[in-house]
Amino acid sequence: MKRKILVTSALPYANGSIHLGHLVEYIQTDIWVRFQNMQGHECYYVCADDTHGTPVMLRAQAEGIPPEELIARVWLEHFDDFSAFHVNFDHYGSTNSEETHEFACAIYDELRDVDLIDARTIEQYYDPMKEMFLPDRFIKGECPKCGAKDQYGDNCEACGAAYTPSELKNPYSAVSGAKPEMRSSMHYFFKLSDERCKKFLKGWTTSGTLQAEAANKMQEWLGGELTDWDISRDAPYFGFEIPDAPGKFFYVWLDAPVGYMGSFMKLCRERGDIDFEEFWKKGSKTELYHFIGKDILYFHALFWPAMLEHSGFRTPTKLFAHGFLTVNGEKMSKSRGTFITARSYVDHVGNAEYLRYYYAAKLNGSMEDIDLNLEDFVAKVNSDLIGKYVNIASRAAGFINNRFDGWIAPLQDEDFNNAIIETRGLVQESYENRDYARAMRAIMALADRINGDYDTAKPWELAKAEGKEKELQEACSKALHGFKAMSLMLFPALPKTAGAGLGLFHAGNNPQWHDIGLSPKQKINPYSHLMTRLDPKNVEAMVEANRENLKPAHSPARHAEAQVHHQAILDTISLEEFSRIDMRIAKIVAAEHVEGAEKLLKLTLDIGIGHRTVFAGIKSAYSPEALVGKLTVMVANLAPRKMRFGESQGMVLAAGDGSGIFLLSPDKGAAPGMRVK
Ligand SMILES: [Zn+2]
Repeated sequence: MKRKILVTSALPYANGSIHLGHLVEYIQTDIWVRFQNMQGHECYYVCADDTHGTPVMLRAQAEGIPPEELIARVWLEHFDDFSAFHVNFDHYGSTNSEETHEFACAIYDELRDVDLIDARTIEQYYDPMKEMFLPDRFIKGECPKCGAKDQYGDNCEACGAAYTPSELKNPYSAVSGAKPEMRSSMHYFFKLSDERCKKFLKGWTTSGTLQAEAANKMQEWLGGELTDWDISRDAPYFGFEIPDAPGKFFYVWLDAPVGYMGSFMKLCRERGDIDFEEFWKKGSKTELYHFIGKDILYFHALFWPAMLEHSGFRTPTKLFAHGFLTVNGEKMSKSRGTFITARSYVDHVGNAEYLRYYYAAKLNGSMEDIDLNLEDFVAKVNSDLIGKYVNIASRAAGFINNRFDGWIAPLQDEDFNNAIIETRGLVQESYENRDYARAMRAIMALADRINGDYDTAKPWELAKAEGKEKELQEACSKALHGFKAMSLMLFPALPKTAGAGLGLFHAGNNPQWHDIGLSPKQKINPYSHLMTRLDPKNVEAMVEANRENLKPAHSPARHAEAQVHHQAILDTISLEEFSRIDMRIAKIVAAEHVEGAEKLLKLTLDIGIGHRTVFAGIKSAYSPEALVGKLTVMVANLAPRKMRFGESQGMVLAAGDGSGIFLLSPDKGAAPGMRVK
């Protein structure tokens, strides 16, 4: 029976690059969608950039461009990254769309009409300089528990305490550095605590919509009081204005997930042959699946279905939550170089299918974290894809092309054919349940059998013997029939390589699952190389490129220690004289070339209490890109100096004696604004 299925992945935020952690979900989803389409089902995959909110607004301001320009640029980057990994959306949209706007307003109107929207006045920090209310992440101050400085408004990175922004000591705005004021403002809430929501959710979360571990978690949450969700933010804000509340905007909960609907509506309008209502109206018989990370489970399992249920739409068939990605057993880290962007993978490693295969071999449909162990990655790709899979075709196709004019004999080994059919069933069930690890193991077990039988038949000896043509053709044909079955089963995970493998058999671009096990006599194409070995050096180069440190752009004197020309020590000063120099930890938030200046870079430094501009003579040693995000030390109370290019408001500290320039950087843990003594 032909199923009608709509699938989504979580929307990436339009304020950062796609990295290998994101790709776990998109690759997981893409494999599942390709598998469903191979079954002959009608399966659509939509997603979008999540574009609204304060971070996008502020970043656009900092770049001096309208937010629409920023999100258009990021959309292109994201789309290119997904395409490079063969993530094949039917539509990749933006939440800043007419369609999403319509649905956000319609859902809000409906919820308000059934009395599930509440308006309440809340107290919130306001930045009087920037004239805006501050989200928790944009307020900093001293931790109320341990006193650590420069902590965010919601939790302390030093001691782990969670609190509200109003509990912070000496708070300041991370946007302007100003001291924030408590002001009251009207906010809109979705009444998740309403009995109707609670009753509905108790049923929905236990009706097979969630993985067992997620359902258990929900019962825990539903056992307590559910809190109402704040769905509004005050102007200035980049987003959709609430229709009956001027100056108020829908916060993320009422526009990001609505982007699933907006993006699908856009697809329906473009295509003209898909009925939006059939997929989204209440009581729909079609299937709807959301692939998400476990971190947004609370939202997708409680708020989202409750909101849909009470605004006249269908609720999701199932949520598929996955765990996080670790690299080499640890959280992704910029300093270790394991916070790897999609782009740098493409630049250094190249073939996206190495990663698609490795993720597939690790994903088992549970919420467990998955680990990308880089050494194992190289070993597994080379042993499975090159050594087992591609190897079959490269060994057998030559004999067939050279000795039999490209003709393979029909498969005669019934036992082997049964093994293919059995593997097909197991792999099919595993893909459906998102246990790709089990599917890959079964496919590789089939490869072992194919290679083993081939080695036993010794075609290279048959080729030299007299009168052994039939045996030679049969041994090679059997291997190639096996290779074809493997290619079909690997196609959801490796659309390019397996697709090229199927090209040997003149298969089209739209291979179907029921072709697995059909092994007739046929003429094959000449074999061309399918995949090269993964060189561990490329993986090392990728990690090196992602490692964040103060690496000079050109390093003529990287090992300068040996060549230092020692200079005499200056006259003694008193401690009092020294203490008049106010040195601070500074974060380089922007760095750029200065037109007409040979040696200078213009640096924008965040010193905790605000930004400073410094012109630094370090251009010969550093590229601007290499500096952004780094911490260094600045003299903050040096008299400002007017220069041809603008005013320099201090000085950054660097070592050097003419052979090179080495910017100082503090030890791990130092934060912008800390005094250096
Ligand atoms: Zn603390």
